[in-house]
Amino acid sequence: MTTMTALVLREFGTMAVEQVPHAAIGEDEVQIAVSHTGICGSDVHGFTGENGRRFPGQVMGHESEGTIAALGAGVSPELFPHGQRVTFNPVVVPVEDAEAFDGREQHCPRKHVIGVRADLPAAFADLVVVPARNVVPIHPEAPRGSGALVEPLAVAAHAVRRSSVVAAQRVLVAGGGPIGQSLVIALRMTGVEQIVVSEPDPARRDLVALLGAIAVDPLAADSAVYDGVVAAFGAPADVAFDAVGVSATLANCLAAVSLGGTVCLVGMGAPHVDLDAFSVSTAERTIVGTFTYSADAFREASRWIEQPGLGIEHLISAVISPHEAPAMFTQLAEGHGPAGKVLVAFNEPGAARGEETS
Ligand SMILES: [Zn+2]
Repeated sequence: MTTMTALVLREFGTMAVEQVPHAAIGEDEVQIAVSHTGICGSDVHGFTGENGRRFPGQVMGHESEGTIAALGAGVSPELFPHGQRVTFNPVVVPVEDAEAFDGREQHCPRKHVIGVRADLPAAFADLVVVPARNVVPIHPEAPRGSGALVEPLAVAAHAVRRSSVVAAQRVLVAGGGPIGQSLVIALRMTGVEQIVVSEPDPARRDLVALLGAIAVDPLAADSAVYDGVVAAFGAPADVAFDAVGVSATLANCLAAVSLGGTVCLVGMGAPHVDLDAFSVSTAERTIVGTFTYSADAFREASRWIEQPGLGIEHLISAVISPHEAPAMFTQLAEGHGPAGKVLVAFNEPGAARGEETS
């Protein structure tokens, strides 16, 4: 039997590097040889068991780049050339529902997400099999590994669309982790130039400053975020994005946007938050929810990684081998991760190749 290297969630808190069988390639599916898969916050919370969205025995991984390795019988080799650099949209809508949910795929009740659904082996592995319609080509010149950033960038692309922000507006982003960083990229692609990011971690503040945002430390004083926004813009923000999603960040966002302004809730830090109702009602602020992305937002984000001068490469803090990944998951779960994304590299020359074992 042919096997490959994969990261298996053995039990909550324990990740193992194992040789697992290749998944079969269905009629309308594409097999991707994975080069890089990003570790998402949701993977870390799945690893610890705290979000209840990952399960022992599962191979996770939904933020990936690779090359086309093999095709199902019904897939055209002209449309999916062997060796092409690709990423994949992990949100899979059944073919029967595609038309009804065109443009709002994330609302489809029968969708599943590769890397979340426990019975589907995903992209922390040498090979992953995905529906051909979810494969998205990336530019051959895009920075190495940047295809793994498309998924978090798509979250940001969709959030920016949901917020209706426009170029001339002043924007606060609460949280400078990978989603906050992706929001800065998405805002800059929308033409927004006035961006403040509040983030307690100094390394993350340095990173978002490299992306062109003004970074403030929310813990510096009680009103540090409001003060930082007013110091930067000379006025409150028009739109705020809460990339954390806990009571403190939502309160900071509401306090820092003007009367009639908009707060877009992106982060899912807590299932329940305190809300100062009058800061919404009497101030006529709008709270907008956003979750994952449409297929169109995903394709839009796939083109951002080829843009020079955006600083996309700053979003990748570390590229590690599968054997280094279990310790990294533990480190991330303890809150000691680097400022940007950690990518796990698969199919590296010199590493044990699944195809060579029997
Ligand atoms: Zn993710």
